[in-house]
Amino acid sequence: MRFLFNLSFLLLAPVVLIEKFRFDNYTLFKVLPENERQIEILQNLQDNDLRFDFWSSPGIKAEFVNIMSKPENKIDLDNFLKSNGINYEIVMSNIQEAIDKETVSPYTRGRTPSMQFDTYYNLEGINAWINDLVRTYSEVTKLVGGVSYEGREIEGFRISHGSGRKIIFLEGGLHAREWISPATVCFIANELLTSTNPETRAAARDFDWYIFPVTNPDGYVWSHTNFRMWRKNRRPIGNFFGVDLNRNWNSNWLVSGASTNPATDTYAGPGPFSEPESRSLSTYLRSLGDRIDMYLSFHSFGELLLIPFGNSTAPYANYHDAINIGRRAMGALSVRFGTLYRTGNIAEAIYLATGGSIDWVKEDLNVPLVYCYESRDRGQYGFLLPPEQILPNSQETMDSVLELIHQGRRFGYLNNSGRILSPLLWVMIVALAKLLWVYKF
Ligand SMILES: [Zn+2]
Repeated sequence: MRFLFNLSFLLLAPVVLIEKFRFDNYTLFKVLPENERQIEILQNLQDNDLRFDFWSSPGIKAEFVNIMSKPENKIDLDNFLKSNGINYEIVMSNIQEAIDKETVSPYTRGRTPSMQFDTYYNLEGINAWINDLVRTYSEVTKLVGGVSYEGREIEGFRISHGSGRKIIFLEGGLHAREWISPATVCFIANELLTSTNPETRAAARDFDWYIFPVTNPDGYVWSHTNFRMWRKNRRPIGNFFGVDLNRNWNSNWLVSGASTNPATDTYAGPGPFSEPESRSLSTYLRSLGDRIDMYLSFHSFGELLLIPFGNSTAPYANYHDAINIGRRAMGALSVRFGTLYRTGNIAEAIYLATGGSIDWVKEDLNVPLVYCYESRDRGQYGFLLPPEQILPNSQETMDSVLELIHQGRRFGYLNNSGRILSPLLWVMIVALAKLLWVYKF
């Protein structure tokens, strides 16, 4: 039986396996718009010329815009930018070279210390590591946050040192090609489990950490096996594939910065929560109720800390607190290596973009502190962050997460009232009951 099964696999293999796409001589432009007119020109190019892959969007405040060009379109883009007087530099002249320099390491099952934090892992490696964490640490529990179109579970885990704690939720890998995101989330988790730093230990103890390194598993797998630059999920839509999972949430869906064209990378899907990944993850998040005190979403790139909302710069209830806490945390992030993140609302700091997870989490679940990291770098390597930057990126991010907690508390958040107040409440109730009994009220 087994032999027959193997044989049938061999027969099917040539049909099923598609060769990995190569990006030989693909070019990465770093365009430096100087005024609103130039930004408008770039926006028009993004909307109307699908030959180019915009790695970052020409938002109102964009300091740079990265555009990837196929070799055959490079001259056209050169000429287009020159004729419009727009400055640019070519930061990569052969994208395949940068892809070849990215290391993807195998994870050795059964040995959690074999997980390295200066290399990338595929989904199989990350999920095997999660299973090993569950076996190794009594405070770790396996979680399933949802399901993908291709039927994969959105695997995650909880680090909990007791009941009644508020939740800090880490969402990684919603965009497939942003490999630094799952790598950073795994690093943070590892710190929470292994660090001897008292502040890290306290952070691990004081909260329930819900950690999901790869929330778009199908896309992540595809970016490893077939197409490194894949961003969306893998659901077939007519002749195309994939919906942008950070444009598909039911919060101002399709209002701005998203597309109705399934050929584009920002296709918002046929309707809000049309995709199994965003739909099931949101259901899961809702089931956690009001226990989530802080929600962190990890993307790349641009070195930004973003807060909701993606369509409006109008401040919401604790907008100023969120900005102040964020800015201080980015101060802490800069200490180790001097990396300077900008903090701002999505619409003002990056570009109008709605239907994203953090907007929904803020609007629907009313989570007090909600942030989105756009990790390193500032357009030199973009999604292809070299392995030597993985660890520094993760370390400085961890520094800032601890500072988010510290500053959050100073501003009156993250005080874990569930854990600290409820025993006190019980003592008061018992005392009151005794009084009532003694005085026979
Ligand atoms: Zn992203």
